[in-house]
Amino acid sequence: SQVPFAQNEPVSSYAPGSEEVKSLISTYKKMWKEKTEIPMVIGGKEVKTDKKIQLSSPQDHQHDFGFYYEGDMSHVDQAIDSALAAKAKWNALGWEHRAAIFLKAADLLAGPYRDVINAATMIGQSKNVHQAEIDAACEFIDFLRFNVEFMTELYAEQPVSDAGIWNRVEYRPLEGFCFAVTPFNFTAISGNLPACMALMGNVVVWKPSDKQVYSAKVIMDVFKEAGLPDGVINMIFTDGKETAEKVLAHPDFAGLHFTGSTKVFQGMWKMIGDNIHNYKSYPRIVGETGGKDFVMVHPSANVEAVATGLVRGAFEYQGQKCSAASRAYIPKSLWNEVKAVMEAQMKTIKIGSPEDPSNFVNAVIDKNSFEKCKGYIDRAEAANDATVVIGGKYDDKKGWFVHPTVIETINPYYESIVEEIFGPILTVYVYEDENWEDTLKLVDTSTQYSLTGSIFAQDRYAIDEAYKALENASGNFYINDKPTGAVVGQQPFGGSRASGTNDKAGSKMNLTRWVSVRSIKETF
Ligand code: GLU
Repeated sequence: SQVPFAQNEPVSSYAPGSEEVKSLISTYKKMWKEKTEIPMVIGGKEVKTDKKIQLSSPQDHQHDFGFYYEGDMSHVDQAIDSALAAKAKWNALGWEHRAAIFLKAADLLAGPYRDVINAATMIGQSKNVHQAEIDAACEFIDFLRFNVEFMTELYAEQPVSDAGIWNRVEYRPLEGFCFAVTPFNFTAISGNLPACMALMGNVVVWKPSDKQVYSAKVIMDVFKEAGLPDGVINMIFTDGKETAEKVLAHPDFAGLHFTGSTKVFQGMWKMIGDNIHNYKSYPRIVGETGGKDFVMVHPSANVEAVATGLVRGAFEYQGQKCSAASRAYIPKSLWNEVKAVMEAQMKTIKIGSPEDPSNFVNAVIDKNSFEKCKGYIDRAEAANDATVVIGGKYDDKKGWFVHPTVIETINPYYESIVEEIFGPILTVYVYEDENWEDTLKLVDTSTQYSLTGSIFAQDRYAIDEAYKALENASGNFYINDKPTGAVVGQQPFGGSRASGTNDKAGSKMNLTRWVSVRSIKETF
């Protein structure tokens, strides 16, 4: 390899009482009181407006931890102009310089910014220390380092040449500017989408989720300190729909890198279609959208492994992962045992603010999410074809707390087993053991999504059957493991159907979307 070899950043354990955890919690407490002011960053300048939007923490909705400045459509124009103005110089810079900037950003995150980005993610997005660490620190660092490695591998791919000629390819950035639209649930994704496009030589307008502006600010601080030139990535806080309409109507729009809801992505795809005659080039469209991720259990499965996989897969980060285990298919012969082990494990789960690292479950992101979860729980309590079998409590007095909940249904198309909830709610369909094959079909066909899924079985023939029957039911398939927690460089991540364009975040496949190749033949 021509660049420092990418290895996954070791995950800090934050053992109770350790110096690491003390330092992180003291940073959290300090930042909690700071009343941070968060400007947009356009052309390298901090942009403040007269519209200050208060930021309250999901774990304490009365506590404002700061505010951000909201922009309007003039700021969208400025961001596009700044990106385009930065393009020529950015493109003239050799790739080693771009690589060095993002490798330095990774080092800053691994060192001096680790506590800060983790604490911002804990305060603004309500992640516990471990969920913050695997996301905001490790996964983000991995994206940055592995992308550099993948970029050099890609650049090294060259065609063969015959005698008397020299064939080569040039990996140009896209002509125009790129647009990154990022979600609240992963700080790493939020940082990676603009960063990987910029690494490949592009200039970017970046609109983070309004639920993630705190850690987004830290990301911009890190990029700046790492030496990212002004205007290469421009961060705006503006109305999503209006911004999309404006950006996607611009003749220089060259690519969309999106993670978020299926509905919003489909809306943006339509806008791109409507504008297709206005663009210089066909834009690249990459999206990672919803999921309704399955756990399929065979009668030969190990009960402990299933229960642990479900509890972790469904409830870590309150189920607010596209990859969360949200529907499980469990044979009747195992269900009572699985339920008992889950119940025992769930009794030990502590719920509360991330300020106490022993809280496994924290708050859901906002009032809307809380109300949505509450609706599914209340309707299941009242339904004839579903019942809440574990959990089912919620409490919004201080923060948006929804207790981990398991719903059992006899209806394989019951609302909570086919609709994405994005909360700590798992729905279980118990099938007759002899219906294993029909149930595989059901898993494949009952939702519109295809993101992640797991098979739990010890019988090798059953594993193979599921592997084949569920070939198109997920983009990431797990055998005897939870369907969450893809690691950069190890399990390229993404799905198809209504779950996305499956361009695999954290892989060379994704980076190829942000270059436009020129093929050159020279004759001697
Ligand atoms: N990559 C994450 C995982 O494997 C999920 C990403 C998402 O929720 O968008 O758990």
